[in-house]
Amino acid sequence: MKPEFPESLPDFQRLFPDEGHCSAYLESVRWPNGFVCPYCGQQGEPYRITTRPGVLQCRECRRQINLTSGTVMERSHTPLCIWFWGAYLISSHTPGMSAVQFQRQLGLSRYETAFQMLHKLRAGMVRPDRDRIGAEWPIEMDETYVGGKTRGKGKGTHDMAIVVGAVEIRTSADEEPAKRWSHTYARPKKGKTYAGRLRLKEIPNRGAKALEAFTTENIEPGAFVTTDDFRGYDGLPALGYKLRQVTMAGDPEQAEKYLPMIHIVFGNLKAWILGIHHGVSQWHLQAYLNEFTFRFNRRFWPFSAFNSLLGIASHTEGPTYEGLYRGEYQHPSEAR
Ligand SMILES: [Zn+2]
Repeated sequence: MKPEFPESLPDFQRLFPDEGHCSAYLESVRWPNGFVCPYCGQQGEPYRITTRPGVLQCRECRRQINLTSGTVMERSHTPLCIWFWGAYLISSHTPGMSAVQFQRQLGLSRYETAFQMLHKLRAGMVRPDRDRIGAEWPIEMDETYVGGKTRGKGKGTHDMAIVVGAVEIRTSADEEPAKRWSHTYARPKKGKTYAGRLRLKEIPNRGAKALEAFTTENIEPGAFVTTDDFRGYDGLPALGYKLRQVTMAGDPEQAEKYLPMIHIVFGNLKAWILGIHHGVSQWHLQAYLNEFTFRFNRRFWPFSAFNSLLGIASHTEGPTYEGLYRGEYQHPSEAR
């Protein structure tokens, strides 16, 4: 089963109408080349129990395998199709969602169930991608001010947070992502540049120390990095980066001309934070930055986002024996 990611909730519900269809999907993600028993290694069709579609039984060792073990749905009494619909809502709605809205949309009787599901699904989004970018593509990096309330304090940048961002500048080829997902970002045309993976972090100040820490944490040494001529970046060549600094001479239009991609990202980020969350307190800002980054980095791969939320993205080989019994589900840290 290799379905296209559905464009609408009705399409989605047709694709995953019941426990049987959801179980079949879990099985196809975990064993794309057919069932292999995680206990004894036996290949081939397992026994199926019609009344329990989420459970498979090995023909050889007769042990039962629960399809949700190691996923976000493990040990939940909520039906799989409710989880699937919930993950679809979270992965396809740019705005994020409150627990009350989530409860209503999924027709859940208990608020606590909605709250727990939302919490577990969102945990897959707010966990940062940990690998470094820039090994294959050049990078644009800059800082911006985000959020904050200025009410009662006059004009200015009171309580605004400083966010540093780095984005890959990719050039599309034939094999580049074919599927358009987000309404915000059109499919890249062949030979055109487009934004690749993104990293965002709130930093306490624009000092060289903070900027260098972000850089070494998120960008591969040796990468080509374009920044403005701010002196905080001066130390990057000594850290192994190929730095190109654009002379701004105090002209903001220069920044948009020479650092176009990161400025588009910053513009979208600010619109998202302002429009959807009516500004966010700095306390939660990094979680929102991670959520924005999650959606941004997977905008061409909606099934990847969906699988990540359900905890089945890095689950293709099946859990190990210890994995099956390791207790509370943890979202695997994943890389893309
Ligand atoms: Zn077996």
